[in-house]
Amino acid sequence: MKAVTKTSRSHGAAYRSADVPVINRDELLIRVTAASINPGDLAIYNSSAPDFSPAQLPFIFGQEFCGEVVEIGSLAKGFEKGDFVSVESHIFCGVCGQCRNDQRHICQNLRVIGRDTQGGLAEYAAVPARCSWKHTDDSLKDIGAVMGPFGSSVHAVLAEDIVGRTVLISGCAPQGLFAAGIAKAGGAKRVVALDASSYRRKLALKMGADAAIDSSGSDCLSKITKTCGSEGVDAVIEMSGGAKAVSLGLKALRPGGRFVAFGLPVTNLSLDYAGDIVRRGIRLEGVAGREIFRSWYKMESLLKSGAVDPRPAITHTFPMKDFKKAFALINSKEKNCGKIILKP
Ligand SMILES: [Zn+2]
Repeated sequence: MKAVTKTSRSHGAAYRSADVPVINRDELLIRVTAASINPGDLAIYNSSAPDFSPAQLPFIFGQEFCGEVVEIGSLAKGFEKGDFVSVESHIFCGVCGQCRNDQRHICQNLRVIGRDTQGGLAEYAAVPARCSWKHTDDSLKDIGAVMGPFGSSVHAVLAEDIVGRTVLISGCAPQGLFAAGIAKAGGAKRVVALDASSYRRKLALKMGADAAIDSSGSDCLSKITKTCGSEGVDAVIEMSGGAKAVSLGLKALRPGGRFVAFGLPVTNLSLDYAGDIVRRGIRLEGVAGREIFRSWYKMESLLKSGAVDPRPAITHTFPMKDFKKAFALINSKEKNCGKIILKP
């Protein structure tokens, strides 16, 4: 088979031949029909991921993908050849305290497919059966590769009731774009998106945001206040990890508001901890991944009912062999892209 393969510690990757994976008894062999690119893949491609070890080389990365089941391990129950599955990239152990308390997404022994194991930017991938979401029909086949990231946005936005609330989406990369649509579908009174890219602000409006503010402009806080009200926003969904954005989001909240920390800063942040969080009673919630599989049931319902449509956020599809074009677009200063799909 062909696969996008990291062959050295330097920037980039190669599209080269590899053996079709041999599955373990608890795994499925998936013929990948589509994969999408996420920040973790980008960090590996750019060689900027701190948890990427030379010992893994050469390795096939890719955390978000879907496909057809073509082989089934003897212990992998509940699947048939020909089933269409999306992949939950978080491999949970099933026996730690977190897993036994319904928090598999923050398993103490968590491994990530395509980071800690061979991934899905390939024609075939081996996936534990317990990390495979079987579709019951073909209605979501075209968006099967983005189910994982969409589920993360579902978890981030809907962890708490947002009906009638004002919501600020900070950062309109794909996770933020999905979040804008989910917030609107979840009954938010007003959804305001924040991003420096005019292309992505337009996408946020397409996804259902009521307003989109240029984060590179001056006086963002007063613009947020103007559109959401002087009392401050009820919830901030922080998807960018940018130091300025985190500080702005905290200041934009009303006292007692909810700050969802999702975006990953590349350096340690300096915050007005006492003034912006403690004294104002801000509720800070870290969100990593999605609840396995509660978020999947929620998103299937949201998607099949038509309450939210992630398709406007999917802006480009390339043959997998053209993966360099996709990464160049995401790495570009302009960021004129939303979610990008690669097809083997
Ligand atoms: Zn566990």
